[in-house]
Amino acid sequence: MARGTIEIFADRCKGCQLCVAACPKNLIHVETDHVNARGYYPVKLVDPENACTGCAICAMACPDVSIKVYRMPRAAGRPREVVTASV
Ligand code: SF4
Ligand code: SF4
Repeated sequence: MARGTIEIFADRCKGCQLCVAACPKNLIHVETDHVNARGYYPVKLVDPENACTGCAICAMACPDVSIKVYRMPRAAGRPREVVTASV
């Protein structure tokens, strides 16, 4: 079971790939099939095995505050937001 997940605000992303390099699980990848509203290739989470730990390293690395991180609670329930990217 996943311990965390992230939400990426793709239209805010400038494709710098700092989050790609920062993720210890190598779960963030560049989308090269389209550009976002700013004209950059955005990144996306690719996590088919639910390996994200919710460590938030990616969000801390992002200079554009484009990543929101959710960490799962120990008991059953809704994911808890741990890092907020202001919208
Ligand atoms: S929260 Fe951690 S494991 Fe999940 S995508 Fe970000 S850096 Fe990777
Ligand atoms: S660090 Fe932020 S701006 Fe840079 S590629 Fe990742 S989400 Fe986009």
